[in-house]
Amino acid sequence: AIDPNFDQNREKVGEEKLDELRSSASQTAFGDDVAVWGPVDPPEQLGIHGTHVAVDYDICLADGVCLENCPVDVFTWVDTPGHPESEQKVEPTHEDQCIDCMLCVDVCPVDAIDVDAS
Ligand code: SF4
Repeated sequence: AIDPNFDQNREKVGEEKLDELRSSASQTAFGDDVAVWGPVDPPEQLGIHGTHVAVDYDICLADGVCLENCPVDVFTWVDTPGHPESEQKVEPTHEDQCIDCMLCVDVCPVDAIDVDAS
């Protein structure tokens, strides 16, 4: 499961690593304002994406139930070719729109999402 204390236990990835992440994906759909918490070593290790709504890309299986059910469409698909768990991930692109309903946290089959509702 995602570490709920990721913002204390991990470090934000810098621009250079972000560029590497973007170029390893087959599309540049990583949200510009979405923080990435390392370590990252693309394409196999992609870190945690987002802060208020955080998705552990190294756990995400691309089940998609979060994206399909989020009432305010926080998530968008990103292609992640070469990742061992799944070759698509959900990016919390519109995490600023989140209404803290916790639905995504409850439905994720692998507990890849943390929402900081405090
Ligand atoms: Fe969407 Fe609710 Fe998850 Fe926020 S907590 S991202 S509103 S499903």
